[in-house]
Amino acid sequence: MNTELLNALNPDQRKAVESIDGPVLIVAGPGSGKTRVITYRIAYLINVVGIRPYHILAVTFTNKAAREMKERLEKLAPGSIKDITMGTFHSICAGILRREGEAIGINRDFVIFDADDQEKLLKRAAEEIGVDPKKFPLKKIASAISHAKSQLQTPERFRDKSHSYFDEIVVRMYEHYEKMLRANNAVDFDDLLLKTVFLFQRQPSVLKRYQERYVHIMVDEFQDTNLVQYELVKQLSGHHRNIAVVGDPDQSIYSWRAADLRNVFNFERDFPDRSVHYLEQNYRSTDTILQVASGIIADNRERKEIKLWTQNEPGDKVCLIEAYNEQEEAQIVVREAERMSASGKYRLADMAVLYRTNAQSRVLEESFIHYGVPYKLVAGTRFYERREVKDLVAYFRLIHNPADSVSLMRIINVPTRGIGDKSIVDMQAWARQRDLTLWQALEAASSSDDKPPLTSRALAAFDHFYRLIQTLIEDSRQLSLLQLFGEILERSGYQLYLKTQPDAEERLENIAELRTVAEQFNNLPSGDALSFFLESVSLVSDVDNLKENEGGVTLITLHQAKGLEFPVVFIVGMEESVLPHFRSLEDPSQMEEERRLCYVGVTRARQRLYLLRAFRRSMMGSSKVNEPSRFLGAIRSDLTTGSLPKADAPKTQTGVKKIYEYSTRQAQTPPRMETRRPATSMAPVVSAGRPVKSDRPVAPLFKTGDQVSHPIFGDGVVISTMPVKNDHEIVVSFKTVGLKKLLLSFAKLTKG
Ligand code: ATP
Ligand code: MG
Repeated sequence: MNTELLNALNPDQRKAVESIDGPVLIVAGPGSGKTRVITYRIAYLINVVGIRPYHILAVTFTNKAAREMKERLEKLAPGSIKDITMGTFHSICAGILRREGEAIGINRDFVIFDADDQEKLLKRAAEEIGVDPKKFPLKKIASAISHAKSQLQTPERFRDKSHSYFDEIVVRMYEHYEKMLRANNAVDFDDLLLKTVFLFQRQPSVLKRYQERYVHIMVDEFQDTNLVQYELVKQLSGHHRNIAVVGDPDQSIYSWRAADLRNVFNFERDFPDRSVHYLEQNYRSTDTILQVASGIIADNRERKEIKLWTQNEPGDKVCLIEAYNEQEEAQIVVREAERMSASGKYRLADMAVLYRTNAQSRVLEESFIHYGVPYKLVAGTRFYERREVKDLVAYFRLIHNPADSVSLMRIINVPTRGIGDKSIVDMQAWARQRDLTLWQALEAASSSDDKPPLTSRALAAFDHFYRLIQTLIEDSRQLSLLQLFGEILERSGYQLYLKTQPDAEERLENIAELRTVAEQFNNLPSGDALSFFLESVSLVSDVDNLKENEGGVTLITLHQAKGLEFPVVFIVGMEESVLPHFRSLEDPSQMEEERRLCYVGVTRARQRLYLLRAFRRSMMGSSKVNEPSRFLGAIRSDLTTGSLPKADAPKTQTGVKKIYEYSTRQAQTPPRMETRRPATSMAPVVSAGRPVKSDRPVAPLFKTGDQVSHPIFGDGVVISTMPVKNDHEIVVSFKTVGLKKLLLSFAKLTKG
């Protein structure tokens, strides 16, 4: 018996791990080891209790979390992970539907439509039923449909609850959209969950099999489950009732995705025999950071107080920094990150910059590029959203499921094969008249005498395409996934086409990266390999792209940072209207969610925390002066300092060299900023999307923070300096006239 593993737990965690019979609720604050308890519980079940891994189901919030948990488990209970069912609700349901979906009319080869595909489908739906997207924005409709689905509402049920004309439009679109999904043999993300619930409702024998299989079920981040997910948990645990859920109501931040923190309380109601465990010791953060966090969350009304304490050192004070504007804010972050990395105390990969909205990353990125400091952006340049990756995936999807018209449309003329938009429209109309999918129409046009009214040239082009895909479909039954990969690139002409594109090298590298993904599935039988490959491609989330070992500071939204931890955390934009977001200012319950979001951010930090704000910020096209965030007001002043820490250690030559070498290396691999050219006049030096080693730290005479004097504008402070062609651009905040952008060679600036 291997009970040694329990020594790595404190007594409360240990109890939570050992109570394995019946429903268990573990409520605990950030960094108290909730995720660790789940991991150890699984190891305990396998090593000590002797449960077969096959009987264990564990739900994580991201695929990345699942991967990490598997890595830990591989050490704790070697050889067990391949048989455990572990992943997000979405990936688990995708697997169930793939195996069992036929029972409710879902074909085994279904594809999963992402937000982009969904938008295309809705656009077509709007055209087909005459809904004007200008009056009824498709994004709003998409989110209404998604919301309905996460509340288990079919179009019929939604209709019963609809009140407004907009709701009525949503119902019509929802109905038509569902029809189109079916015609494409596709499901969207919400369907993965919803259809699984329906499957279990309608097929009790199927449910029974899964209920019997999953003797032990565990769910992490339970506070962010929505109704459908909770329903699944109840269904699956219906037989053995060994269900352990782990959550922190103070970290519930996804109500906009219909997550409902009441599920934590409903669990207590629905499982009255549950045992409850509280974990109070925080292992992650310094005492100072923990107290700052507690001060912030204490202002929320709708909460059960969770005690939290730590044995960790008080650590450094939290830095509260005011910058003049968002550019300066970014600059402070980058230079501080650079300084710490040069001191050797932290690696760049130990640091993260957290922000409220994606848009805030742009200025940060520009600054990182400008100073040549490597960074990785979690959202924004999602690998799977890159054009060449989507194109190639569309080939795979079409081969897997020819009914997928969205994929078909994406590649029918990529690379160009003489199939014009007009002929496509005509072909679609012809297909509709005959009630055929686009693929069936192509098939009919190629093989029967009943042909659509198109020119013979157009018909020949369609025929050529049809034969191409048909051959690839046949190949897919015999070849390995990697062989198929090669065939697609070759026969479709896509590889040749890519070579003629600007940025060809980078695009081919992305294709190579996709190939490494495919490689993981290569040993499976052909059909399965393709299914699993496509499924994994559909289900990656932004956070999954975060590669731990790669150097570089992580740029990430507060939402995505959930569950993660970093030795050093910068939170930028600590201002009213930013954090808290302006949409929450009038709504007390939204305000509470913003406070929780801030709390999540603060509690990601292990040793150092910087809270930055800008006096003036450009938002949505205009420059605004925002008050400091109300959350800062909740922090005890003895826990903070207004100045940056003194140097950690002398800046050694090797330290500097290390970063420099890194930047050079980074410039050879595809940097993540390629699709995001800086848009302002303060653009850093960028060539072909790659950072050029600028002569950092830039201006020869002036640097940020220097007091300067100008013959006309008077006294001011240097905000930023930037090399421009043969010169330097300097931004100065003058006492009299405010911000001015000057060229060094013209401005008669003196130090003063
Ligand atoms: P969050 O609410 O942010 O998801 P959590 O409660 O899931 O946090 P974990 O991520 O499991 O917390 O743990 C936080 C950190 O504390 C991790 O680095 C973990 O390894 C460490 N930790 C937890 N419990 C212990 C322990 N008993 N001994 C040593 N380290 C621990
Ligand atoms: Mg956790």
